[in-house]
Amino acid sequence: MKTVIEPFRIKVVEPIQMTSPEHREAALREAGFNLFRLHAEDVLIDLLTDSGTGAMSSDQWSAIMRGDESYAGATSYFHFHDRLLEITGIEHILPTHQGRASERILFEVMCKPGDIVPNNNHFDTTRANVEHSGAKALDLVIDEGRHAESTHPFKGNMDIAKLERLFEDVGREKIPLVMLTITNNSGGGQPVSLENIRAVRAVCDRHGVPFFLDACRFAENAWFIKQREPGQSNRSVREIVREQFDLCDGATISAKKDGLVNIGGVLLMRGHAIAQRASNLLILTEGFVSYGGLAGRDLEAMAQGFEEVLHEDYLHYRIYSTGYLAAKLRDAGIAIVEPAGGHAVYVDASAFCPHIPANQYPGQAVAVALYREAGIRTCEIGTVMFGGETPPAMELVRYAIPRRVYTQSHIDYVAEATIEVFKRRETLKGMRITEAPPVLRHFTARFAELE
Ligand SMILES: *Cc1c(COP(=O)(O)O)cnc(C)c1O
Repeated sequence: MKTVIEPFRIKVVEPIQMTSPEHREAALREAGFNLFRLHAEDVLIDLLTDSGTGAMSSDQWSAIMRGDESYAGATSYFHFHDRLLEITGIEHILPTHQGRASERILFEVMCKPGDIVPNNNHFDTTRANVEHSGAKALDLVIDEGRHAESTHPFKGNMDIAKLERLFEDVGREKIPLVMLTITNNSGGGQPVSLENIRAVRAVCDRHGVPFFLDACRFAENAWFIKQREPGQSNRSVREIVREQFDLCDGATISAKKDGLVNIGGVLLMRGHAIAQRASNLLILTEGFVSYGGLAGRDLEAMAQGFEEVLHEDYLHYRIYSTGYLAAKLRDAGIAIVEPAGGHAVYVDASAFCPHIPANQYPGQAVAVALYREAGIRTCEIGTVMFGGETPPAMELVRYAIPRRVYTQSHIDYVAEATIEVFKRRETLKGMRITEAPPVLRHFTARFAELE
């Protein structure tokens, strides 16, 4: 069979609200044209993020009822612990409330002012936590990863020559660890090859520096390896996932992505001494080592989610459905970041609206038009998000796909609405900011449309 179907049926439904154009216009104005300020009930299809927005399975909801809420040594903690040990083989496993808590603890333990932490591309919370520790966050993705049109199969790879040069230039004393983000979220959800992970490992071994994964989408990355990397197609995703983890000294994970849960995170470490210090910090600010700021039921949901995400029929559907949206947009002549990422499709807003310059926020204009047209919420990733002094390389609109939430007809609707807006793209207006905080302005700024 050629048709790829959702590998689940629907047991519980959550109605979504159809709205009139007048209702959406009023909501937009009330929100100052900032989609983060909308009430979610005014959104029909919400593609703002894939983080914590997925649907849990009936097995996960059953597991929730088995949650053991004991303060210490809860049965649910051991279910969580044993699942992660089985998947990753990494000995020290701490639960955290989400990815950034794992990051804060890791960098506080490992970094000091003046240090440099290389990554393919730091995710924004990762960068912020590296810099909070006084260290500098450096992006060393391969050149292809910076160009929307390049169709390199592993655009998330790290540039190994640049990594070597960094060690030569600053010395290993200044590099407390090397990180690699799989898949590369800030770089368009692009995968990293096994060959590249092995090469980073080899560089770290030569210099005696620990190597950590930001492994939020470890299963999606493994699926891409199985599909695209020579010699990998006959291996199971489970084996590939295990090799990814075998190659590192530890990992931070936001379980809101491939953990298939709405809240939760993990910090994995091999070294006993660092695990000891991380545990102390966890107890200080998050909670005891057997719950890490979560309820026992959350640990149960993670234990089950980390198992389900490795099912290959799920991954096939997941990556295929992102590519399905990308293909519809591409076929209509809309420029996107190629190839489609794992968790999102990124529309090139400067190509969509060449008449709107970067300082009039073309990404914001497209995102606003999609909401106005069809009640769809996407996310600007461009000058609004990254600030004005040096405009980013690309003005993008991200369509992040929540896991197991929307059906093919929802996605058809999203494509159709985008194509409608594209047909009248000359009518889209630039925007200006009327009110903005000094940092992370994209969350709360207000806008007005230019005439
Ligand atoms: C989401 C994400 C994080 C942060 O996780 P939170 O759960 O949002 O705190 C870190 N790195 C990457 C690559 C992510 O996608």
